[in-house]
Amino acid sequence: MLNVSEIVAKTEAMFDLFNDHFYGGELNRPAITVSPDGGRGAYGWCSVYEIWQDSSKGYREINICAEYIDRPIGEVAATMLHEMAHLYNLTHGIKDVSNNGYYHNKKFKETAEAHSLHIEHHEKYGWMVTTLAADAAEWIAKVENPEGFQVAARLPRSNPADSSAAPAAGNGGHHRQPPHRLPDQNEGRR
Ligand SMILES: [Zn+2]
Repeated sequence: MLNVSEIVAKTEAMFDLFNDHFYGGELNRPAITVSPDGGRGAYGWCSVYEIWQDSSKGYREINICAEYIDRPIGEVAATMLHEMAHLYNLTHGIKDVSNNGYYHNKKFKETAEAHSLHIEHHEKYGWMVTTLAADAAEWIAKVENPEGFQVAARLPRSNPADSSAAPAAGNGGHHRQPPHRLPDQNEGRR
């Protein structure tokens, strides 16, 4: 029996674990979702705005795109930490992207690398090519049952052409395209 709620619960648990270990628990957990991105090719996003609300409080959203949640755990972890770096910067009023969310500047690299990622430069998208730093990869490999996060895959991927271009296992956690925090894309999600 496939329970999507279980996948989301595991993704929430991943956020909490990483928040404790890599951020000293200082981030507030946003709404965590595991939704498809409709073929745009993102691995994840962090909403710019607080697009969820309960009775008293607003929440941003971190989404791990359903099409790519079946990647190796190290790559999904890198995506989560990438979005958490955006969340940290948003929380602290640090502008880390431009060009409608596509271009990642040095501020992104600084925050990400201060929290156990390794960031390389992409010609078009800036400091966006994301892999785990060695210490993070080592720690995550030792976490009890890390594969527990990998419970299901959502198939087929939205676009067969995209699927063939999808990153092969082990080539790092970078985004093929980074449209993961466009305000327009996220404003409607409530
Ligand atoms: Zn990003």
